Amino acid sequence: MLDNRPELPPEIARRRTFAIISHPDAGKTTLTEKFLLFGGAIQMAGQVRAKGEARRTRSDFMAMEKDRGISVSASAMSFDFSNQNNTFRFNLVDTPGHSDFSEDTYRTLTAVDAAIMVIDGAKGVESQTQKLFEVCRLRDLPILTFCNKMDRESRDVFEIIDEIQENLAIDVTPASWPIGIGRDFIGCYDILRDRLELMDRADRNKVAESIEINGLDDPKLAEHVPEAQLTQLREELEMARELLPPLDAEAMLQGTLTPIWFGSAINSFGVKELMDGIANYGPEPQVQSAEPRQISPEESKVSGFVFKVQANMDPKHRDRVAFLRMASGHFKRGMKLTHVRSKKPMAISNPVMFLASDRELAEEAWAGDIIGIPNHGQLRIGDTLTEGEALRVTGIPSFAPELLQGVRAGDPLKAKHLEKALMQFAEEGAAKVFKPSIGSGFIVGVVGALQFEVLASRIELEYGLPVRFEQSQFTSARWVSGDKQAVDKFTESNKQHISHDHDGDIVYLTRLQWDIDRVARDYPDVTLSATKEMM
Ligand code: GDP
Repeated sequence: MLDNRPELPPEIARRRTFAIISHPDAGKTTLTEKFLLFGGAIQMAGQVRAKGEARRTRSDFMAMEKDRGISVSASAMSFDFSNQNNTFRFNLVDTPGHSDFSEDTYRTLTAVDAAIMVIDGAKGVESQTQKLFEVCRLRDLPILTFCNKMDRESRDVFEIIDEIQENLAIDVTPASWPIGIGRDFIGCYDILRDRLELMDRADRNKVAESIEINGLDDPKLAEHVPEAQLTQLREELEMARELLPPLDAEAMLQGTLTPIWFGSAINSFGVKELMDGIANYGPEPQVQSAEPRQISPEESKVSGFVFKVQANMDPKHRDRVAFLRMASGHFKRGMKLTHVRSKKPMAISNPVMFLASDRELAEEAWAGDIIGIPNHGQLRIGDTLTEGEALRVTGIPSFAPELLQGVRAGDPLKAKHLEKALMQFAEEGAAKVFKPSIGSGFIVGVVGALQFEVLASRIELEYGLPVRFEQSQFTSARWVSGDKQAVDKFTESNKQHISHDHDGDIVYLTRLQWDIDRVARDYPDVTLSATKEMM
């Protein structure tokens, strides 16, 4: 351990829970496949996609997801990775890549201890990389960087590193250094372990040949690297040593320094070194902020929090799965935990773990793990489960939607049915649903326009209910809080703007920023806020 916290029990210390962030097409799916391949979770790379496709054909909604090349729903996968130090348990939490799903992504990132940023060596830092990076920054998440597609023409390495340092304001330290570019790319020099890793272009699923080297003057280097490239490598590495900081594990953990590996996911190259990096440097399960006290992973009592709810994962069974990040302790199947919000006990008898995209019963789980709990709607995003103590995990926000639309059932007699469907999606976190205090109907709020389409097709598919979204007179929503009397007075005189969200909290709807400013002026005891803590 780097700080002065107690050492974690070995079962917890060997866990690495992380997400991959990237711009679409940078290679996240390919890298995930290779992780699973080297984790021994699947026999052949390509199965993630193949399985994904088999699953996707099950519904039009999924087909839409596929058409648009986006992944709407996030899931978690667990697999083991062994190196000379230990056998590690990796929990990879998938983040939806499309910018319309940033809120979901944000919540996903509350459940991980680190993120891997994948960038395309030819494109550098792209818009979505930047956005996701900023979300990680809000939480000071440690970031490990993988510069992919080095088998193709890519940018100059110093230029890539510069761009990351400039655009993302984070220090970069090379963990490996590429030798040659594009067609002349032959492999990398592993700076952390003084090894030469040579890429095999013929066998894409093979781990690179690794040659131990005794520093840059080792004659063995010349046996494998053509002279011109070797000279360049020596020069570049010398420059890198002068210009770039060394790997400082503490700075990495604080999120101010990112180590970068170069590789080619499709050629399985550099992936193992990256996995080694996560294993050796990637943080162990971290302390979780909570009220009234924070939760440490080594505590013997079990606790965890829901960061995602996915409804109707299997259209045949109307199930919902709440994804729980274990914050502490050693969970065993069948345990009774307290659902802190309702103070009710819950027997967790069928928890699932997602081992390489197949669900399995989770007989046990440790701090750091992610388990899925099938339930009928009791569990919501932000909920905490404990062995009895009234703890509430904090920092899982709900953002005010940026787009609002009215929604109506095609068949007016189905209004109640629609309400039920909308409430489910609201609880799942897929949309905000507001019931205006005057008039009928609902207003749905989302972060990105695509979500309306996804919702419409899901409501039709999962509830057999054709719906119409239509323009709403409102464009902004703000949660209302403050002194009760002041809030009552405010809602009474602004009825046409007032609605309630699915939790029953009061929401002020408007189309003018001017209105929001006016409220601040006229009602000093009332607060309008654009985020609300999920609880
Ligand atoms: P995602 O959108 O980030 O999940 O990206 P994918 O993993 O689906 O990859 C996007 C495209 O880049 C696919 O056609 C991959 O085959 C290709 N790709 C992934 N990794 C590499 C690589 O290392 N080199 C090359 N040349 N292509 C790659």
